[in-house]
Amino acid sequence: MCGIVAYKGQKDCFPILLDGLKKLEYRGYDSAGVACLVNNKIDITKRAGKVKELERAIAGKKSSKNCNGLGIAHTRWATHGEPNQKNAHPHSDESKKITLVHNGIIENYDPIKKFLRSKKIKFKSDTDTEVLVQLIGYFYNKGMLSFEQSVRAALQRVDGAYGIVILNTDFPDMMIAARKGSPLVVGIKDGEFFIGSDVSPIVKHTQKIIYLNDSEMAVIDGTNYEIKSVDKDVSLPKKVEKIDYKIDDFDKGKFKYFMHKEIHEQVTTIHNTLKGRSTKSSVLLHGLSEYWEEIKAAEKIYITACGTSWHAGLIGKNLIERFAEVPVHVEYASEFRYNHSIMDNKTIVIAISQSGETADTLAAISKANDFGAITIGICNVAGSSVSRETNCGIHTRCGHEIGVASTKAFTSQISILYLFALKLADSRKRITKTDMKKHLEMISDVHQKDIKSVLKKEKSIKKMAKKYQNASDFLYLGRGLNFPVALEGALKLKEISYIHAEGYPAAEMKHGPIALVDKNMPNVFIVPKDKTYDKIISNIEEIKSRKGKIIIVTDSKDKILRDLSDDLILLPKTNQYMFVMLATIALQLFSYFIAVAKGCDVDQPRNLAKSVTVE
Ligand code: GLU
Repeated sequence: MCGIVAYKGQKDCFPILLDGLKKLEYRGYDSAGVACLVNNKIDITKRAGKVKELERAIAGKKSSKNCNGLGIAHTRWATHGEPNQKNAHPHSDESKKITLVHNGIIENYDPIKKFLRSKKIKFKSDTDTEVLVQLIGYFYNKGMLSFEQSVRAALQRVDGAYGIVILNTDFPDMMIAARKGSPLVVGIKDGEFFIGSDVSPIVKHTQKIIYLNDSEMAVIDGTNYEIKSVDKDVSLPKKVEKIDYKIDDFDKGKFKYFMHKEIHEQVTTIHNTLKGRSTKSSVLLHGLSEYWEEIKAAEKIYITACGTSWHAGLIGKNLIERFAEVPVHVEYASEFRYNHSIMDNKTIVIAISQSGETADTLAAISKANDFGAITIGICNVAGSSVSRETNCGIHTRCGHEIGVASTKAFTSQISILYLFALKLADSRKRITKTDMKKHLEMISDVHQKDIKSVLKKEKSIKKMAKKYQNASDFLYLGRGLNFPVALEGALKLKEISYIHAEGYPAAEMKHGPIALVDKNMPNVFIVPKDKTYDKIISNIEEIKSRKGKIIIVTDSKDKILRDLSDDLILLPKTNQYMFVMLATIALQLFSYFIAVAKGCDVDQPRNLAKSVTVE
C-alpha cells in the first residue's frame, strides 16, 4: 500500500527517486511527493494525482539540478485527510528541520495533536503523519535529545503502524528509517543507500538488502549504517541478504499491462512453484520439515488470508479435507483475529499472503502464535514478515507480482496447497500409493501446453468481453472446487472493471441471487464434466428460463452446453485439479479484456492497493 523510496549517496537524487516512485506505482496511491536536501535546505515538491504530475512539477524547478544526494519520496494512499496536495507527503515539523515520509497509520494521533497544539504547534495538513513529524520536532527542538533520540522518543509514544524515513537539515549526511507494521527494506551499495517499502525501486541499483523487522531502525550516517532497536539504544546484528529478483520482473516487456504479462507468465510460474517439490512417490516441502511431526498430527487446520489468497484458502480446504481428512476452517484474517477461534498446539494455522506483508494476516499469525498453534506461511516474498513470523513455510516462487489484481500468485498458492494436501494425506496414510503416484505424475508434467492453449483463446475471449462490457452486474457460479473459482472470477471483474459481480455456489443461487436475474444479467457458469455436471445443467436451465445470459466455461464438448449458452469457453480436457487452474486463467483474461474495453487502469485500479499494510 503506498510507497516509500529514499536515497543517500553522491548522485543527483531526483532521477533515482522519481524512477523509484514509478516502480512503486503498482501498489496503488493517490498523490506523490519528494523532499531533497538542496543547499542544506529541504526542498519539497508534492502533487495530488499521479507521479507524472510530480515529475512535471520537478522538471520546472531550478533546484532539481542541485540535490546533495539525500532525498526521500512517497506515494500516498490516504487514510487520514483528503488525497490533495496539502496532505501529500513528505511532511515537515514546524521548524522545517525535520521532514519525513510515512506509510501506515498513527492511531493515537488525536491526543498527541491536542498535546502539541497546547504547546502552540500549528498543523498544516489533516494527516496523522504530520502529528508524528511534529512530535519528533518537538523533542528535537527542545534541545535535550539528539536527532536519533528524538525519533526514538516519538516512536515510543505512537500506536499504530509505520514505515518512515526521516531527514534533519542539521545533519545533512544522515538519514533514519524505522518500521513497525509497514515494511521497509534497505539496499546497500558501496557507500550508497536505497530505502524502499519493497525491493522494486532498489533492485536495479543493488541486490544487497537488509529487511527491517518491526521495531527496528536503520541509522545511516555518512557511508556507515547501523541497525538499532526502536525501544532502546542498542545495535542489532543483522544479515545482509542477496535477493534474486530479475530486473525483467519489473518490466512489462511486450505487454501493455503487467496484469496481462502476469496472466501469460502462468505457463512457467505454476511449473516453477511445483518444480523440485516432488519425486515419483512423495512430496518434498523442505520448508516444513522441522515441524512436520506436529503438522502430521494436527487435529484441526485453520487457513487465514484476505482477498484472492482467501479464495486459494477455500480451494486448499477442499483439497486437504478430501485427501488428508483433517477438518479445515477458512477465515478472513481480519475476522480470525477477533473471532473466538479454538486453537492449541494441535492446531495448524496456514496464513496465505502474496506480499507477505498483509497487515490483517500478520495480526492473525500473531494471534495463532500466542495460542501456541503451529503457523505455516504461504507467501511469495522471501524475507517478508509472513515468512519471518510463522514457524515454517513455503514460498510460491512466482516472481514479483505487480498488477494490483492478483493472478499468477493465486495459481501458485493453489499449487502449494495441492502439494501440501497430498503430503499430509501421504503422511497420515489416507491416500493409496497408486493414487499418490497418479497425482505426482500430473504434477511433474504440469500441463504447460494446456495453459498455453487457454492463452491462445484470448482473441475470442476478448471478443466476448467486448460484448459484455456494459453489463452492470454479473453472477459467477460454480460448485465444489470451482465455487472458489467463481468467487475469484467475480472478484477479478470487480477489482479491475468496477462492474458489480458476485460468486455463488451454483445451486445456492436459488436462495436469493436468482431474484436479480433478468435479460441483462450475464451469468458465468464454471462447468467441469464431473459428478456435479448434471446438477449444474439444471442450475443453468433455471437461469435460462428467466432469460439470463449464459456464459459457460467448460471442458466438455457436449451439445447441450452449446445449446444452453450464449457464449462458451472450451478448455482442454485435463483433470479436475488442472481444470481449476485453466478456468481461473480463462476468467482472468475475461476480466482483463472487459477492463481494457472499458478503458480502466488495469494495473492500478481505483482505491485498491497491492499490499494492504493497514488493518
Ligand atoms: N496515514 C498516512 C496519511 O494518510 C499515510 C498513508 C500512507 O500510508 O500512504 O497520510
